[in-house]
Amino acid sequence: MSVVMKFGGTSVADADAINRVIAIVAKEKSPVVVVSALSKVTDTLVKVCRLAEDGDGTGAAQALDGLVDRHVSIASAVTSASRASVLAGVKEEFDELIGLVHALAVLREVSPRSQDAVLSVGELVSSRIVAAALADRGIASAWVDARGVLVTDAEYTAAVPDMTATCDRVRETLAPLQAAGKVAVLGGFIGATASGVTTTLGRGGSDYSAAIFGACLGVGEIQIWTDVDGMLTADPRVVEHPRLVEQLSFNEASELAFFGAKVLHPSTILPAVDKNIPVLILNSRRPENTGTRITATGRPDARGLTALACKRDVTVVDITSTRMLMAHGFLRRLFEVFERFKTPVDVVTTSEVSVSVTVDDTRRLDDIVEGLRHFAEVSSEREMAIICAVGENLRSDPTVFARAVTALDRVPLRLVSQAASRRNITFVLRDADVPEAMTRLHDEFFH
Ligand code: ASP
Ligand code: MG
Repeated sequence: MSVVMKFGGTSVADADAINRVIAIVAKEKSPVVVVSALSKVTDTLVKVCRLAEDGDGTGAAQALDGLVDRHVSIASAVTSASRASVLAGVKEEFDELIGLVHALAVLREVSPRSQDAVLSVGELVSSRIVAAALADRGIASAWVDARGVLVTDAEYTAAVPDMTATCDRVRETLAPLQAAGKVAVLGGFIGATASGVTTTLGRGGSDYSAAIFGACLGVGEIQIWTDVDGMLTADPRVVEHPRLVEQLSFNEASELAFFGAKVLHPSTILPAVDKNIPVLILNSRRPENTGTRITATGRPDARGLTALACKRDVTVVDITSTRMLMAHGFLRRLFEVFERFKTPVDVVTTSEVSVSVTVDDTRRLDDIVEGLRHFAEVSSEREMAIICAVGENLRSDPTVFARAVTALDRVPLRLVSQAASRRNITFVLRDADVPEAMTRLHDEFFH
């Protein structure tokens, strides 16, 4: 089975981490390896851009010197025979970057296009180092400039891939390497327009790169290597001893991601899910673990729930109007107020004369309440929370809902909703009740 393996910044943070990566890669047969920048490097490059914009050329140069030192020492530590050539490559990338940043600092202007050029260096050098380290361990490998493979539009800092053009390039460059038994190593997150101008896919975009290459190659599996064991049945800060979710569906992962249970952002693995390619989340510190497997359909033997998630400290807004009775256009007017103040609503429940919504961002709450008061009575309550119980199985097994409500026992519920997907039940309750409610649900479904 051919695979794409993606290693995040923490998995290539230092020489020890890169050595663990080498050992993991050595076990697969000619995988495609996608790597992020070393941890914190992209953040530092963003800072360099801000310094250049402020005209602080000295500060920017100092930050870059720190990056050069770190990369040179790590590259030296993980290579032997290829050391001289990889150090030359790394220095060349940074020399060019130092010149570019100097010019940007003189101009005091960093356009999105320039920012992409600066940020791309993180992935260019990390991937060169990993490729060289593999070669020195006797693993046939080749560094590939991702900008020659991942073709995007010109929406700098959030470029959109052109799948057709990219898959053509993948067939031309990556497939032959695989066929020759070589490990292809590329930086994630970066690409280029059809005419060759450097772009990035947006922060955290390396997962997206891995999914795109995997989808083009039609691999058997995409492995996302990170520093956690996978997705958990609940937030360990709220529930003691949550379990590992061994398998879940893409839709379940999407529901959970909204609640901050995001080891990865599900939308970034969509190209893989569309092609029915499983995506695994694995821990590069504990490669023997099975991790979490995300597939289009989820657990084949689904019983009970798949996982719980919660969002703390939200505000409930209750909007009541007898004018709503039998009237049309009420919801439109209501949501227009939230729209005017650019505030997203999360949970929505309605009765015949009232609507309740939850909001996370309360910066414009006073304006919203005033806007709504023109046509309804309004009250709001802070220090509330949302608990989300997720499981594909909720669709087929009606007893799950009853078990969840029964498990909550006397915990007062403010709102309950189950949307059309019937993949989750959402409870809105007092924030102070979250630990008890989560523990009760977790005990019922996961112990
Ligand atoms: N290095 C990039 C970032 O930090 C991309 C990634 O790690 O996925 O956002
Ligand atoms: Mg990441």
